[in-house]
Amino acid sequence: MSDAGRFLLDESRLPKAWYNMNADLPVPPSPVLHPGTMEPVTPDFLSVLFPMSIVMQEVTPERWVEIPEPVREIYRLWRPTPMCRALRLEKALSTPAHIYYKNESVSPVGSHKPNTAVAQAYYNKEAGTKALTTETGAGQWGSALAMACSFFGLDLEIFMVNISYQQKPYRRYIMENFGAQVFASPTDRTQFGRKLLAESPDSPGSLGIAISEAVEVAATSGGTKKYSLGSVLGHVLMHQTVIGLEALLQMEMAGEYPDIVIGCAGGGSNFAGFAFPFIHRNLTEGKKTRIVAVEPASCPTLTKGRYTWDYGDTAAMAPIVKMHTLGHTFVPPGIHAGGLRYHGMAPLVSALVAHGDVEARSALQLETFDAAVQFSKAEGIIPAPESAHAIRAAIDEAVLCRETGRKKVIAFNLSGHGHFDMTAYESYHHGKLQDFEYPDHAVEEAMTHLPKVPGG
Ligand SMILES: *Cc1c(COP(=O)(O)O)cnc(C)c1O
Repeated sequence: MSDAGRFLLDESRLPKAWYNMNADLPVPPSPVLHPGTMEPVTPDFLSVLFPMSIVMQEVTPERWVEIPEPVREIYRLWRPTPMCRALRLEKALSTPAHIYYKNESVSPVGSHKPNTAVAQAYYNKEAGTKALTTETGAGQWGSALAMACSFFGLDLEIFMVNISYQQKPYRRYIMENFGAQVFASPTDRTQFGRKLLAESPDSPGSLGIAISEAVEVAATSGGTKKYSLGSVLGHVLMHQTVIGLEALLQMEMAGEYPDIVIGCAGGGSNFAGFAFPFIHRNLTEGKKTRIVAVEPASCPTLTKGRYTWDYGDTAAMAPIVKMHTLGHTFVPPGIHAGGLRYHGMAPLVSALVAHGDVEARSALQLETFDAAVQFSKAEGIIPAPESAHAIRAAIDEAVLCRETGRKKVIAFNLSGHGHFDMTAYESYHHGKLQDFEYPDHAVEEAMTHLPKVPGG
């Protein structure tokens, strides 16, 4: 082990293939249903939104999918990313536990999101797509896709949640720097947006609304524009597995293997990217690593939502999938982990939680920021509020080790840095943040609006 506890891989060890969890899923995958007919969709339906190469990745049974060389070439700008042992945090906690974190904050835009953005831009370019549409909340995904589109010479239209567009302009400037067009959603550019604006001209917007707008523009473009999603879908999760595949090699370098693997979960992509290769070992090599997904108590999709059929978006235009959901009518509270406010969860992650391969827990906002500040003071990195949920869980496990005197190896994914979230930190330090637990009655109410899937 290096004294500093940093485990760095040579460029030559950048993975050559992604891992496809579908190949080893212990339960049969649920079909994707058409939002109108509620019948399983055909590849033709999906190919209105995505190039065929991506549609096929969504359904392929292949366990390993080759990463195209042009994608690997761009990955090499920041990959392989470091895996670090948080020695100073361990000391501060006086824990016998060993804590490791995979540092995805070193990507150019500061999160794991370019791992799939680059791949999706590449496949679209190959398929002759001229322009992409997408949505973004606080701007993490938008900035990643904007960078990727600029690399491949694709135009990009981004529907950014109105409240973030107004309150968090810096990521918008990053997107615009890369040449993307950014609109405050709801916009007057879509039928759905115009309908919403007529009802409430000052709508703060939501991720579900922005998805509906981006999907509408692509679906009505006559094939010239395709749509790109930054989380939830199988191909997105698969692209993110470079994280966990590198981490496996790095744990080997460290001469340890994790007892607990932790990631924060919004749509599920960074969690899956880090955890799926470890779940693969659990399922095929008899490893017994505990796999933990952490979400905000204010958006408790896995811990309070129902595992059932729901629309992927607010307008009920996106396909229906089986997932943990708070209901597509969910209105997110104004918490500061913007990337964790989606009403649903990746169907693959949901299936693994339902089957017992993944544990889910939630964390309150204040304890999450406590953990973020403790981590930053020990390790020097200011984490994204989203990532801080994983840190909270890692610290809790390490404290448990101290109390029980057991040495465990804990590994978590640091999905991004928090340099554009400093107003949230400022609010926290000045006592202006509050805890909020999403109420059960709101979940119950939303369940009455679920699609009535025959036999579902
Ligand atoms: C977007 C984002 C998340 C949440 O999205 P997932 O798909 O659940 O990974 C988490 N952390 C960071 C830093 C993000 O930007």
